[in-house]
Amino acid sequence: MPAGLAKRVDIDSGRLLNELHALARFTSVEQPKEGTAVTRVVFSEDDLRARKWLKDLAAAEGLVIREDAVGNTFFRWVGSEPELPAVATGSHIDAIPHAGMYDGTVGVLGGLEAIRALKQSGFVPRRSLDLVLLTSEEPTRFGIGCVGSRLISGTLDPGRADTLHGAQRGSEQETLAQVREAAGFHGPLSSVRLKQGQYHAWVELHIEQGPLLEREGIPLGIVTAIAAPASYRFTIEGVGGHAGALLMPDRRDALCAAAEIILSLEKHALATKAIDTVATVGTCDVYPGAVNSVPSMVTLQVDIRDIDPARRERVMLAVRQDIDELTRRREVKVTEALVNADEPATCSPHVVQVIDEVCREQGITPKHMVSRAYHDSLFMAQIAPIAMIFIPCRGGVSHRPDEYAAPADITNGARVLAATLACLAME
Ligand SMILES: [Zn+2]
Repeated sequence: MPAGLAKRVDIDSGRLLNELHALARFTSVEQPKEGTAVTRVVFSEDDLRARKWLKDLAAAEGLVIREDAVGNTFFRWVGSEPELPAVATGSHIDAIPHAGMYDGTVGVLGGLEAIRALKQSGFVPRRSLDLVLLTSEEPTRFGIGCVGSRLISGTLDPGRADTLHGAQRGSEQETLAQVREAAGFHGPLSSVRLKQGQYHAWVELHIEQGPLLEREGIPLGIVTAIAAPASYRFTIEGVGGHAGALLMPDRRDALCAAAEIILSLEKHALATKAIDTVATVGTCDVYPGAVNSVPSMVTLQVDIRDIDPARRERVMLAVRQDIDELTRRREVKVTEALVNADEPATCSPHVVQVIDEVCREQGITPKHMVSRAYHDSLFMAQIAPIAMIFIPCRGGVSHRPDEYAAPADITNGARVLAATLACLAME
């Protein structure tokens, strides 16, 4: 790290807080009595107005702006050796309906403030520094999260991406191709992809969205791995009938079979004894769904997450063995469909170490931790060495209007981010 830089980096806490509140006003949702409600669906009018506002702020700092075909926006502080791979930070500003004001936005505005603070300290980066606003981290509009970073990393097929659309009726049925065109983002989605090595490193500042930092009284976390979800849909077909007339020994009840599958998943996830293995059945659709009718068909949606893909797969194998056994015993048919499976990410030990050293220089003892929620960084990890900086959020609450991060923690996070970017930019 450039000598003494950490001490010279002066984050303007008031400005950062003001801008977070200003960004939170780009929403049309009615405000609750307490907290700040934000709904900002990607490419909505609110999102486009917020993007314009952010571009004006970045332009005022002399950052070079580039937008790609899906609306990922790159704000570049050109380094003294601009041909070197740049160092990047960023996050998202889209928000699910009735969410809070800190998820994603802390990383974007904290990144902007970090760059400003470095500029004001007189620091000149060797590598260029990019602040990146990633499109559609939330799955609200297109049914899949991290659209921008998936396209950057090549984990989403550009042709398929253009056909994505929401499940609801009305305007939500418009495809990504239509929506991005209307928002002014043109060109083939294949052009969004970035090459491996194009970035020297990627660091994302984010609220924890979990309770650990607050509970342990630690102001900052360094993410060493990001868990990734796999989701499956199970369809269980049995035989329906009259709830009174169909005798118990003759039944092939699809819901009873589904209940066994749900418990099997819980049992095998617990059996790993790993705190990082989590499995959830979040939906259960019962057909025909009448009180006096034996269920003939059930659909379950399963979400299983881990930082270890092999362990995640072992849980599914054990569940499948149970399913084999119960289908024979219960004479039902079970079909499994893989909806989506992403690779977990391991953060770069080097980037983690740089953040750790920066923290210690600033008198912070950070917690090394796993991110159980997934982020754009999960996909950026496919093309660059990454790490994430977490700050505490009250009660671990996120995606709600009462989501809250303390100003001191936000400022801390931005200061550590600034010094980290400075170190990485001089490598
Ligand atoms: Zn987020």
